[in-house]
Amino acid sequence: MRTTLPDRGLSLSDIEGELEAMKADDPDFSLASMKGGADVDEVARLAFMQYFEENPLLGQRLPSLWRMQTEVLDMATDLMHGGPDAAASMTTGGSESIFCAVHAIREWARATKPEIERPRLVIPYSAHAAFTKSCHYMNIELVRVPLGPDYRADLTAMADAVTPDTIGLVGSAPNWPYGRYDPIPELAALADSRGIWMHVDACVGGFVAPFAEDLGVQLPRWDLRVHGVCSISADLHKYGFAPKPASVVVYRSRELHAYQPHVVTDWPTGPYRTETVVGTRPGGAVAGAWAVMRYLGREGFRRTTARMLNNKAQLTAGVREIPGLTVLDTDLGQFIFHPDTELFDSQTVAAGLRQRGWFVFGVQEPPMVSLVVSAVESTVVDRFLNDLEAVVAGIGETTRAEGELNYAS
Ligand SMILES: *Cc1c(COP(=O)(O)O)cnc(C)c1O
Repeated sequence: MRTTLPDRGLSLSDIEGELEAMKADDPDFSLASMKGGADVDEVARLAFMQYFEENPLLGQRLPSLWRMQTEVLDMATDLMHGGPDAAASMTTGGSESIFCAVHAIREWARATKPEIERPRLVIPYSAHAAFTKSCHYMNIELVRVPLGPDYRADLTAMADAVTPDTIGLVGSAPNWPYGRYDPIPELAALADSRGIWMHVDACVGGFVAPFAEDLGVQLPRWDLRVHGVCSISADLHKYGFAPKPASVVVYRSRELHAYQPHVVTDWPTGPYRTETVVGTRPGGAVAGAWAVMRYLGREGFRRTTARMLNNKAQLTAGVREIPGLTVLDTDLGQFIFHPDTELFDSQTVAAGLRQRGWFVFGVQEPPMVSLVVSAVESTVVDRFLNDLEAVVAGIGETTRAEGELNYAS
């Protein structure tokens, strides 16, 4: 039956009670979805609430929010080693950042390669679904190239897929399904040699890699230090610990960034120029991103990154001790594992974890359980490992029907 608007409104305390009751049955996201810790959440919430009513669409007419957005973009560009000519936009998430970059690539190709009638984008099989979506909306032919056996982009196969109509290449840093970096310097060199655009999707890695690097973690090079990289998407609402929705898209130069905006002139209100896809968006997300970056600073992000990496190491050690489970090596924050026996499968393990209240992500090819590890207290990891052990021990009682893997994102 369809819910109807109540005839008489409820009181504030009734609403509070209802909200609490509704939330009570939700899964525990704390370990699996990139949390920064209770203090970081508090800062983000405070800033979000202060700008609860504001709309960044107003641009410079709302000076304080404009300034915060400018500073967030400056800090992000600096973290990605943009030079003095680099330019960036703030968006509502990875999908919009990707959409903006794909739009810029298409407009750039229209301007500089007018002979191309059916533009084509070449991406690794593991690149995010948002590329397929963007290409669908923008009438670009998309080619997903099979990965190498190491779950990274296969350079030779990518090179073979580049045709005269190809306008750009994509690599992930790292990819969402397997948590591994594509060979960005090699892909960027390939793009450069063919005179096409190279986009790096650092949505999940962009705001943790710089600090992991500070801590001595060896990562493949992925940012604007790499010759040939034209643009990067990086999500503030992932390891930037910003309130949702917040992301950035950064360009090597103002010239490339200038292909992104859109202007409408033939309507009654006068010129309507938007840099990104959406119109109105929440000012709280901008203020929250800004506040968290100021609160943590480089040193604080190093601390959260170290905590996250410790949690991942603890998960790895713990899962290796549970007979029948295998851990997939990942480059950064994703923790991925799967059963190595015929006796039970990933879906059953995920269903068991869900039944115990844990939220986990999933991968289908091959079936695996995935967490994007948070920087929370290690006691949360202890509780998770205990539950995982119990799930595996009691696997016979858990049935496939009790839960489906969530393949979203
Ligand atoms: C999360 C993610 C996206 C999409 O971001 P949304 O914020 O969910 O729109 C794109 N690419 C990668 C690698 C991601 O991890």
